[in-house]
Amino acid sequence: MTELLAQLWTPEVKMAVMAVLAVLVVLYVLCIVWVVRDAYMRGARWYLWVIISLVPVLGPIVYSIMRPPLMQMDRNEQELEIALKQRQLAKYGECAQCGYPVEADYVLCPQCHTQLKNLCARCDRALDPAWTVCPYCATPVAPAGADRRAARRRSHAAAALEGENNPRLEA
Ligand SMILES: [Zn+2]
Ligand SMILES: [Zn+2]
Repeated sequence: MTELLAQLWTPEVKMAVMAVLAVLVVLYVLCIVWVVRDAYMRGARWYLWVIISLVPVLGPIVYSIMRPPLMQMDRNEQELEIALKQRQLAKYGECAQCGYPVEADYVLCPQCHTQLKNLCARCDRALDPAWTVCPYCATPVAPAGADRRAARRRSHAAAALEGENNPRLEA
């Protein structure tokens, strides 16, 4: 038996076995390099995956099954796209009344004529209904529509009342 083995173990066979072993070692190292690179690009904890990938054959297979599905680059791009869409949505809103798409500086809804924005009494710029002061010219904003007239009456009455108590306020 040993004689047979010795006969088979010719220098050529020895060379062939060494070559196969060398290829296996190179493949093993390449597998680890691939896992590290891939895990790094996918934003995974690559140093953990290196330990797993050290297990020959099984390590890289386990990694390729359990690796994160998205590349870090793609994920960044996706986040950017979402942010862009949100900005577009903020710019092009919809009319609360009829759902018609309106732009940020529209004062009226072109479809149902609902007032979307107030106009500054001084500089005529479109103002958000929630604003209490014009950010362009610092003029205080009165509440819209009928409320505005009522508020003006109220504030006049209040001013008159305060004026009675403190004449300097009226001037
Ligand atoms: Zn509308
Ligand atoms: Zn203004």
